[in-house]
Amino acid sequence: MGPARRKPSLPELPEVETVARGLRSVALGKEIEAVETSGVPSNRLPLTSADAAMLVGGRLAAVLRRGKYLVAGVVFDQTVAGPEPLAPSADAALLDPAADLARHGASLALVIHLGMSGQLRWADATGEPRPPHTHLVITFSAGYELRFVDPRRFGFASVVPPSSLASRITALVGLGPDAMQGGWTIESLAAALHRSRARLKTVLLDQSVIAGLGNIYTDEILFRARIRWDRPANSLSLDEVMRLFSAMQEVIAKAVDLRGSTLADAQYRDLFGSPGSFQNHHLAYGRAGLGCHRCGEILQAERFGGRTTTFCPTCQL
Ligand SMILES: [Zn+2]
Repeated sequence: MGPARRKPSLPELPEVETVARGLRSVALGKEIEAVETSGVPSNRLPLTSADAAMLVGGRLAAVLRRGKYLVAGVVFDQTVAGPEPLAPSADAALLDPAADLARHGASLALVIHLGMSGQLRWADATGEPRPPHTHLVITFSAGYELRFVDPRRFGFASVVPPSSLASRITALVGLGPDAMQGGWTIESLAAALHRSRARLKTVLLDQSVIAGLGNIYTDEILFRARIRWDRPANSLSLDEVMRLFSAMQEVIAKAVDLRGSTLADAQYRDLFGSPGSFQNHHLAYGRAGLGCHRCGEILQAERFGGRTTTFCPTCQL
């Protein structure tokens, strides 16, 4: 083990959910006093300073998460006195984000995707210098800043009216049901898998089928479900779908509970700069060459689609 240069670990659902919860805890109801952009465009979706300036004077009324996307609703009604947290529910998550934002009276949506290396940080404007690669700074009342730091610039931030979400941010509306809040059942998971002969991991990573999973959590889910990553998705028995369903629920719930995974590259930190701790519970991801916790066999790694998949060749069938 130990390739000279690892690909960075991308933020997945548990990491983005942790950031969303952090934002809800500190930013809801606070007024946006200023917005600055670095002028360095994202590789994916540039935020112009004119678009960013539209946020000034607004307040964050809701912070939604859909898959790996953060969608914050901004209201301009001065009568809004304070936070109105959105109760996370399966029903709410199934709705169109535009409808969710409309319920909160939002007239602008701030959409953020962390991409490969993006971090959102909440900081005291006077106390902490801005790190290099800070591309967006939203200054809130009481002297706090929300900073979007993105060395590789594969993330993006965009400001659009909620009614334009579908036309302007097409990846967002193309997402399948969320892995955590999408209302998945064993039946709906079985139906989604049985529509495809592609390899199981490919289907699990497909954001238009299940939103939020990436390389880390698919490896962890498949290990716990005892299913090989390269099985045709439509070959799973009902028992295997049930195991996959349980593993998905278990892994996502525990990873969110433990505030995500921070690997050796330290790419992921929460809104306050703290690491997650689910990496201490990884059973497959990053463990190639080490013994399987279940059967003792040496875990294998295979390259696939530019990623490394780690699995047990003996007890994942
Ligand atoms: Zn094993």
